[in-house]
Amino acid sequence: MLAAMPDSAPSPLSTGGTSLRDGGDACPGTLRLHRADDGALARVRIPGGVLSADRADALLAVAGRFGDGDLHLTSRGNVQLRGLDAECGGGPAELLGAAGLLPSAAHERARNIVASPLAGLDGSPALGGWLSELDGLVCASAAAASLSGRFLFALDDGRGDVDALGADVTLIAEGDDCLLRVGAEDEVFRVPAGKGPRAALLAAEAFLRAARDSGAWRVKDLPDDVRAALPGEVARTIGGVAADEAVHRPRPRTAKAPEPGPVTAQDNDGDGDGDTTTAISIGVPLGRLTATQWRLLTETARRHGSELRLTPWRGVIIPGPFGQSGQDGQSGQDGQSGQDDAAEALRTLAATGLITGPDSPWTGVGACIGHPGCAKSLADVRAEAGAAVGPVGRLPVYWSGCERRCGHPHGEWIDVVVTPDGHRISHVRGERRDPPATVRNNPAALAATVAAARA
Ligand code: SF4
Repeated sequence: MLAAMPDSAPSPLSTGGTSLRDGGDACPGTLRLHRADDGALARVRIPGGVLSADRADALLAVAGRFGDGDLHLTSRGNVQLRGLDAECGGGPAELLGAAGLLPSAAHERARNIVASPLAGLDGSPALGGWLSELDGLVCASAAAASLSGRFLFALDDGRGDVDALGADVTLIAEGDDCLLRVGAEDEVFRVPAGKGPRAALLAAEAFLRAARDSGAWRVKDLPDDVRAALPGEVARTIGGVAADEAVHRPRPRTAKAPEPGPVTAQDNDGDGDGDTTTAISIGVPLGRLTATQWRLLTETARRHGSELRLTPWRGVIIPGPFGQSGQDGQSGQDGQSGQDDAAEALRTLAATGLITGPDSPWTGVGACIGHPGCAKSLADVRAEAGAAVGPVGRLPVYWSGCERRCGHPHGEWIDVVVTPDGHRISHVRGERRDPPATVRNNPAALAATVAAARA
């Protein structure tokens, strides 16, 4: 059923002194669609971005039957289906539910979990156990059903990539233990790794109790005194499993996306045949995948007995093993055949327009949906971003059609926002922002300014 919603989800922080939850949680889901200018929009939560080939088929089927046919990746590794027919009713949810993409109707918008996409592939620990356990715990918790669609869990394999995304509750792998971070706190709790998911859920439930009066959606939205008291409440809640002393571990400020290309792990078996190619990493221009691209990615995963991992940087990782022709996913490849197999897969994907190497001019370029998909947009920022694509930049750039900056990156990046006075370009460093430059009605000057800012 299509719920009546405003053209764009209002910011919960724009309500001044009133309850932050006034107006309800407008975050779209699979059951609660958002009405955009290009039709209805469904946001399908994909915990950890991990998607089996069969589930990827189901998403493509829904996009083709009810929507614009494309798959739109989000900055949380989820999938948006756009251009849905207002008369589609429960059709999308029925198909997605049958594929296992809707395990709990009550929790469908609460299953917001990002995970390090290269976990277990380049020498770091795997996170699959944590991911399925935390997702199961969230879906089994009656309290967690009232988490907002904005609340975010992050599972970090220790490299700091998703820890930098500013989640509300973050688990960081560290040997036999893990670290639990609440909000942006620099003091973290040490917990045995096996108890991490349970501690993460307890921390989220403690947040819900703390947010009862203010109605805050996220930890950072809590009133200052309540936010300051939250770690103490979490410590009491998880006291049975956490070490007594908190650990000082400042949150990383830069979230680094996996580089497009082959992913390798050191080969320690002593046979001297070189590193093992464990995965391939693919970038998606502006996060939008055509049916042909999606089908090819899915078939590549299926051929290797693997899965798709959608990244919070709108990319896709396909774990191997590479270097064998069988479909059973059994390992046994040597270094050279793995490289050849991965290179062949990347060449095939590149031919469809996907980003398969760090030298693509599209690497690091992002944009919101803009005009004509969003009524708030002052320009077709996707077309503008494409027209301005130039030399590979050091910093990512993100184009927004208005000041809301939906889906913007984190850490250090170049912000291009359309305003009534022209395009405003600024260098963002975490919470800080350098004085902007403004370019008005001059596409060549705009491209040059953006390129200079990214260099
Ligand atoms: S940032 Fe883009 S998608 Fe978000 S409201 Fe503004 S124009 Fe629309």
